[in-house]
Amino acid sequence: MKTKKITVRTSRREELIDITGEILAFVRKSGVNDGKITIFIPHTTAAVTINENADPTVQSDITFTLNKLVPKLPEYHHLEGNSDAHVKSSIIGCSQDIFITDGSLLLGTWQGIYFCEFDGPRNRTAILRID
Ligand code: ZN
Repeated sequence: MKTKKITVRTSRREELIDITGEILAFVRKSGVNDGKITIFIPHTTAAVTINENADPTVQSDITFTLNKLVPKLPEYHHLEGNSDAHVKSSIIGCSQDIFITDGSLLLGTWQGIYFCEFDGPRNRTAILRID
């Protein structure tokens, strides 16, 4: 199986959740040694990014900065009241590609893969596809 959906349960309105372990486990189980994995987020108020996995303050600094860049404003027209989350999703993006080499993820030493929640808490999905 080269496509898999994983569930990500978020507990706050905004948070970055490390999903590297689940993605690496899927790559190892697939038996693919060389290729590429795509992580796609099928939501309009969430995203996926790659960043430092050593110091957890990096993740909170990312959400802090996004809130400075994209505050909740009364001028938004979208009636659901979560336009800031839609904008953050588009800034960060809904997919990432990572090379697979020697059956593992070709990430930098300090890189982890993060599901980005901008309008939680919710049960979310990430779609993984190996090619
Ligand atoms: Zn909305």
